[in-house]
This record gives sequence, C-alpha cells and structure tokens, in this order.
Amino acid sequence: MSKEEPLHHSGICPNCPADTDQRFLYKADERSGKYREAGKVLLYGRVEILSLFCCVGCGAILVYKTFLEDIVDVDNPNLHDPKWLFNLASYEFLRDSFLIYSTLKKEHLHPSTPEDVRQ
Ligand SMILES: [Zn+2]
Repeated sequence: MSKEEPLHHSGICPNCPADTDQRFLYKADERSGKYREAGKVLLYGRVEILSLFCCVGCGAILVYKTFLEDIVDVDNPNLHDPKWLFNLASYEFLRDSFLIYSTLKKEHLHPSTPEDVRQ
C-alpha cells in the first residue's frame, strides 16, 4: 500500500510559522561546466539544484538553491530526481540550501521614509 504523496517541506517559508507546508512545484539545475570525452558529456562541474515551492500559508513562491556536488556524473539520479531533497529533514534542507528568491518579502522601505508612514 503505497500512496504517492506530493512532495513538500514545512517551515521553510520565511514569512510563516514552522508548521506551515510548502508544496514543491518544479526543479531545475545549474552546472558550472561539462566534461566531455569523445564528444560525449560524462561529467558536470559543480551542480546546484534550484527548487521552486509554493507556500500553503501565505502563497509566496520560494526558490531555493541546494548544492549537490562539485563533480557530478551525468547519470547521477540526484541530478534528475529531486526526491533526495525531501529525504532531508526541513532543518537540514534549510541548512544546506539558500533562499534566492521569494515573491513575498517583508517590505523594504527607503531609509528616508517617515516613521508614521512605515506603520
Ligand atoms: Zn509562507
């Protein structure tokens, strides 16, 4: 009896409490280079996985970047399947990842904005 649950983390949204879920939407990866032999790509240099989440609490879209490895075989399953990101506990995911984008941020007002306008 295996029910395939949608991939998600919880507590990784900077706007929401730790028990809020963030639904996984999409992943991409960034590679610093390729190593070829006889015209065939065998290895990628430094790979980072970009993962896109939607926060169930506030609706923010969050993009995290997680380092995979410095040298990655093109057949490395972690390159193609993001499941390993969800085998990490949320605190491990946060420790190993970097939030590079969020659609909802705490407001950044210009320093000259008067105090009564900020509230
Ligand atoms: Zn949120």
